[in-house]
Amino acid sequence: MSQKPSPDIYKPSKEFSKQARISSLAEYKRMWQESIAQPEKFWAEQAQELTWREPWKKVLEWKAPDAKWFVGGKLNITESCLDRHATGPRKNKAAIIFEGEPGDRRTLTYAQLHKEVCQFANVLIGQGVKSKDRVLIYMPMIPEAAIAMLACARLGAVHSVVFGGFSAESIADRLSDSGAVHIITADGGWRRGKVVPLKDNVDEAIKGNREIKSVIVYQRTGQQVAMQKDRDHWWHELTATASSRHQAKAFDSEHPLFILYTSGSTGKPKGILHTTGGYLTGTYTTCKYIFDMRDDDIYWCTADVGWITGHSYIVYGPLAMGVTQVIYEGAPNFPDFGRFWKMIEDHGVTIFYTAPTAIRAFIKAGDAFVENHDLSSLRLLGSVGEPINPEAWRWYHQKIGGGRCPIVDTWWQTETGAIMISPLPGATPLEPGTATLPFFGVDAAILDDSGKECKANEQGRLVIRKPWPSMTRTIYGDKARFKKTYWSDYEGLYTAGDSARRDKRGNFWIVGRLDDVLNVSGHRLGTAEVESALVGHKAVAEAAVVGRPDDLKGQAVVAFVTLKAGFDETPTLQKELRDHVGKVIGAIAKPDDLHFAPALPKTRSGKIIRRLLKELVTTGSVSGNLTTLEDFSVIESLQQRLAKR
Ligand code: ATP
Ligand code: MG
Repeated sequence: MSQKPSPDIYKPSKEFSKQARISSLAEYKRMWQESIAQPEKFWAEQAQELTWREPWKKVLEWKAPDAKWFVGGKLNITESCLDRHATGPRKNKAAIIFEGEPGDRRTLTYAQLHKEVCQFANVLIGQGVKSKDRVLIYMPMIPEAAIAMLACARLGAVHSVVFGGFSAESIADRLSDSGAVHIITADGGWRRGKVVPLKDNVDEAIKGNREIKSVIVYQRTGQQVAMQKDRDHWWHELTATASSRHQAKAFDSEHPLFILYTSGSTGKPKGILHTTGGYLTGTYTTCKYIFDMRDDDIYWCTADVGWITGHSYIVYGPLAMGVTQVIYEGAPNFPDFGRFWKMIEDHGVTIFYTAPTAIRAFIKAGDAFVENHDLSSLRLLGSVGEPINPEAWRWYHQKIGGGRCPIVDTWWQTETGAIMISPLPGATPLEPGTATLPFFGVDAAILDDSGKECKANEQGRLVIRKPWPSMTRTIYGDKARFKKTYWSDYEGLYTAGDSARRDKRGNFWIVGRLDDVLNVSGHRLGTAEVESALVGHKAVAEAAVVGRPDDLKGQAVVAFVTLKAGFDETPTLQKELRDHVGKVIGAIAKPDDLHFAPALPKTRSGKIIRRLLKELVTTGSVSGNLTTLEDFSVIESLQQRLAKR
């Protein structure tokens, strides 16, 4: 079952193509073919552009599911991200243009960033941090978050960043899972005009925990915090006496770089482990070709460093490219929904990378917030995190991109480390809702249950058939779960856990999580397709679709819908929306139940959590792991609404 083919295909403009690294579909195809025929050759050429202390002896050692990339090679990842710029022509170039939520601004050049990282690395040495030690970072979105990560990496210590929106309970979980005994945090951070009490949360998480050796606290908001003698230290006091010179050691290419927990859209988060040489190569290469980053770009990725997008596309990839980037501390709607657009105008942002959940929130807020800003500096837009509904895509393209900027809809995962499926902006014809084609060296395919490749438009499981440098090496401390989750569906192939189909042009359409795909009277229906049909209606801001058991059909379609301002929750609209889905997709997809909802349950990274809705419509309540839920009251209010019916 698939949506009717949409006629809107957007070819890259001549101007864009002319200056892009890859400037035609034919060129992409030729390079992709070559990269798939000889992936090791392709990746070795890319890796060569980075700084290595010792060359690798072998590009790849592969025995599924164990990959070793650039075997025998030695590097310090921060030399590619910092030293080579700080000692060269980019010395005085802005690396980070920071804007705090209250409006404070600060610029760090590559030379300054390098110095700060060296200094903080010396601070960590003073606290006894050694190679392979795990260090938990719980920070607001300020430059010091990146400095802390890079300082760990410089020492070969393994950082584990926990998103600043998470609770004490989540910190405690991740501390015990990763075995970290050092913590880097701040007194607080600004979010929607209020202070997020980061240090207090840390205190609660480690109450009675004798293992913790040090807590370093950056002073950001200035409110009172408790400091435990000998364990807790102020960042500014430690750095005041630390040398800003640090001679970096070289580490093995497969040295562990970080552990990052997944978003938890489908259950308990997994501690994804990434290593050094391959990860750097993957993030660097994708920045180069997918964001087509230039020396004069002002790049802005709105993700938090607590997510993989922040690791790969704020810290490691862009810095390895030597680009200038904007980092913003706070909420997109503070003081109002015009904040992002004002920042793009003020800083002259040229490349902007955000998530569908943010775009839908902007649409819901209304166009007035966009219209009084000059966004003409933008040349390229990106999207990540969920399938982008075609309606949201068109709004983004038109209202933000002025119809002139290509949108790279990037499909990837915490586990893949770098973007896997995405348009190349100067080459790939775009179509709203598809991440289009695999990146160089990525052998993506869609398989049916028996392992055969699906025909065009047939829905199946998304797999990657060849190893790639930035792939996760394991789930930290749980190799068995790693094997079972990603490597047990098909012998030797990586299963992403997403359901997808490919159209006749070869474009990949992600239609939902495998667990979320519905089976209605023998038809497989993707949640993303039904949701996009709903979002295509003028009254709808967001939609989430799940299945509930049905004696006749196997599964019935249940939709939850939030409305845009100015529309009322009426039975007439309910019927209209059901009919609308019938018209767009087919009668089979018409929601059996359609609930209006004030809000949808989301992860803290903004993704809709369908498993909770599914549980709710099946059992009437929810249980299980709720720590990644952004706002529990959303589920409570839905539960009450459903109970009343
Ligand atoms: P968990 O694995 O804990 O359930 P998660 O899968 O949400 O959480 P992430 O690694 O942050 O954690 O997200 C990766 C997933 O996000 C992908 O598997 C896919 O479902 C979705 N995704 C990311 N980008 C896109 C995109 N451009 N189009 C469609 N889906 C996307
Ligand atoms: Mg996942």
